[in-house]
Amino acid sequence: MIGLVLLQVFRLPLPGPPVVTGSYGEIRGTTLHLGVDFGVGERIGEVPVLAAGAGYVRRIRVSHTGYGKVVYIQHPNGLRTVYGHLSHFAPQGEAIVRAEQDRQRRFEIELYLPPDRWPVKAGDTIGWAGNSGYSFGAHLHFEVRTLRDETLPPYAYLGLRDSVPPVFIRLGLVPLSGESAVEGRGSYYFFRLAQHSSSSEERLYHIRDTVAITGRVGVVYTVGDRMGWSRAWTGVAEVVLRTQAGDTLYRVCWDTLSYDWRRYVPWHVDEPYNQIYRVGIERLYSQGLGFPWTKGNGVIQLDEGEVRGYEVVARDFLGNKAVVRFTLRGGRLKGPIWRVPLDPARSWSVEGGLLLARKSYQVVFADGGVDSVSPTRSLALNGRVPLYLIAGRDTQKTHIIAVLYPGHPSKVPLGRGCQLEVYAESLPDTMYLRAYWEEGPWGMTLVLGEPGLHLRTPATLTWDLAQSLPERYLSKAVPLYRGRQGGWDGVSGYRLRGRTLEVPLRRWGSYTIVLDTLAPTFRPLRRQGPFYIVQLEDFGSGVNPYTLKVEALNCCGAPPSTLYPEYYLPQHRLYIPREKGRVFRITVRDKVGNTRTQEVRF
Ligand SMILES: [Zn+2]
Repeated sequence: MIGLVLLQVFRLPLPGPPVVTGSYGEIRGTTLHLGVDFGVGERIGEVPVLAAGAGYVRRIRVSHTGYGKVVYIQHPNGLRTVYGHLSHFAPQGEAIVRAEQDRQRRFEIELYLPPDRWPVKAGDTIGWAGNSGYSFGAHLHFEVRTLRDETLPPYAYLGLRDSVPPVFIRLGLVPLSGESAVEGRGSYYFFRLAQHSSSSEERLYHIRDTVAITGRVGVVYTVGDRMGWSRAWTGVAEVVLRTQAGDTLYRVCWDTLSYDWRRYVPWHVDEPYNQIYRVGIERLYSQGLGFPWTKGNGVIQLDEGEVRGYEVVARDFLGNKAVVRFTLRGGRLKGPIWRVPLDPARSWSVEGGLLLARKSYQVVFADGGVDSVSPTRSLALNGRVPLYLIAGRDTQKTHIIAVLYPGHPSKVPLGRGCQLEVYAESLPDTMYLRAYWEEGPWGMTLVLGEPGLHLRTPATLTWDLAQSLPERYLSKAVPLYRGRQGGWDGVSGYRLRGRTLEVPLRRWGSYTIVLDTLAPTFRPLRRQGPFYIVQLEDFGSGVNPYTLKVEALNCCGAPPSTLYPEYYLPQHRLYIPREKGRVFRITVRDKVGNTRTQEVRF
């Protein structure tokens, strides 16, 4: 990889050998990681962060979430480097930040600096690694960006080598329509992967069997990569599906990544599968929705008896490859397709407009019609709403209340003063909306859609509180959400308008309203590096970081001095500089105004 090594223009941003704990292009839940995380052994404020190259600090930001305390350096070669989650800045930066905080009288600031304000040489200490912002353990988040702030894979720029080709962990086929099947079944099919050969640049897999498909079929994969010198699994740069004749059917290419691409991730990963089996599989096809990083739609369809070879190639960021070759044959549909719900815990489900069942049911529709469904006979619903599934004494109420089509805004009344407003952009696919009310730990709970699955863009749940709450409690009403995993969480971004609560609905699941009348609590933790740390907890609306107050109580009757409260929302932790004393008065308020003031002594 000589050509890539020549790219090395930066030095490592930390002293000593690098420890990669998170990689560029790695999918995290439903988002993408756009930098490299370097571990610092959980030491806050002790490991210097070094400028990767000469240039000047162009931007500094301090915030309660995101990258916390972050430095952006502009280099003369046109690239930018980013250093996130710092514990604190080098003295020069601390002075700049402190002056701006004093000017704005707040913790959160953002500054763009002229080239002569804070010039740096390669290797200059610009700050210390920490745990600020959206971080759960001390580390450095490092990025390389273009002048347009698109991110680039940092490895080659840092001179990091990768001597190990990617690994295919899974490769499979998915039937994409009611008439589609793989080996006669309407469910996921995973190839048996056998490694054929491997060198330091290429790993080749072989699949012996020819697999029969009917109808439209897509390819899914799980791929990982290691760099050889590091234990961490890293993301890959590109995955391509092509015919053995060389025609590209689909291509996922992440050689550069833009921040707004992250919102496509829930449709690139196979979310229903991942939700149910907790296994990350990604798609080499798209149905309708175009992604900015792809080419083609990846859909495979063969005539009866037609045999074709395909290959899937994964390339890591330093050019090593893994290749899987397989052969498909167009099959003939003989007899019914065996098709069961994805979720083994449920006896039926609606997937892609098909009603699927694990046993034979009689289906009663909203229009009074009756039909039947069985494991080998799925039912194309075509917009009909199934109300009940009946098998002897086992009667299942579907709770399906509406059919929602992508591209069409609609409003669905849900009862109890509740309404769902879905926008044209909200859904990736036709949805049979399930909704029902049940008694929950906090009162009546609305169960909506498939728990945990994402909407493409948020819908709005409006909740008329006048029906259920006396006027004086309206301002304390707070929405809570529960996904597939269990615990209840606050929903951010809700608004009270008159007597109506407007709740942004980003994921399907259970929603309820609670009255938040309890003030937040706090608990001092052990000190870390230059900080005392206090854990803040609030059930319901959550701590409001903008009304936090931290005062250092000085000895001998001197007046207290007010600090800018360094609070990181995702961790619920308050960082107090130890140099400021040992006794503090903390005032914390939640978003509906419940307040607690308490002295804390370290
Ligand atoms: Zn990171």
